[in-house]
Amino acid sequence: MSDSGTLAQDTRKAAGLVALTGVNKHYGDLHVLKDINLSIDEGEVVVVIGPSGSGKSTLCRTINRLEPIDSGSITLDGQALPSEGRALAKLRADVGMVFQSFNLFAHKTILQNVTLGPTKVRKADQKQAEKRAMELLERVGVASQADKYPAQLSGGQQQRVAIARALAMDPKVILFDEPTSALDPEMIQEVLEVMVDLARQGMTMVVVTHEMGFARTAANRVVFMADGEIVEESDPETFFTSPTSKRAQDFLGKIL
Ligand code: ADP
Ligand code: MG
Repeated sequence: MSDSGTLAQDTRKAAGLVALTGVNKHYGDLHVLKDINLSIDEGEVVVVIGPSGSGKSTLCRTINRLEPIDSGSITLDGQALPSEGRALAKLRADVGMVFQSFNLFAHKTILQNVTLGPTKVRKADQKQAEKRAMELLERVGVASQADKYPAQLSGGQQQRVAIARALAMDPKVILFDEPTSALDPEMIQEVLEVMVDLARQGMTMVVVTHEMGFARTAANRVVFMADGEIVEESDPETFFTSPTSKRAQDFLGKIL
């Protein structure tokens, strides 16, 4: 790439809603994130794929500061991520996260699961928070379950509640870490449909998934990771039809 090309890219990176620059992270001797450069624009849907152990979850966890990094920088809206206190709580609200294992509060009702963050962190009024929570539960198709407890719901329903819970904080970006991997096959689609809807409505999303249908339908960009590195990055069509790296070709050969 020419010098001017590099410069243009750097300018775009500075403007990203989420920007990782030269990020490195180790677990002891294991170098899990190797010089990661990734910029995500507002409204963009980035799908991250790659073999197990390549650092995808760690990457997500660094973006909401569940994991500190060793070097490099991560910014949200141009601001370095805070490391503690109220600023950190606000960051976790701004950066929603949906995990593989739904992670709902088991002893709270579905409604309480969705209102807790807004009332505690965003200091929302209880009644308003409930009204908004019901709208969000409606939107993900589980409003009728509002008074139940998580264990009374199917996995697909619980995951949709987890998405509503993230949305209730009015996040700037939502990270999804293999949101359908723990679901029975018949429930995968209902969760993906909610995610496709969110993508269409302009939510900024980082989605770790092996659901290639979702990637093709909703992603603006596919990022392929292996061994802690971003090996390849392109639009979904290009990535799936003509991946350039041997590692991406091998990986796609195994999963498609
Ligand atoms: P992926 O999500 O792509 O499967 P992870 O980010 O979970 O990969 O893990 C990347 C590497 O880091 C793996 O080798 C994993 O075993 C290791 N790892 C993840 N979390 C920890 C941890 N808390 N302590 C030590 N090693 C970890
Ligand atoms: Mg993972």
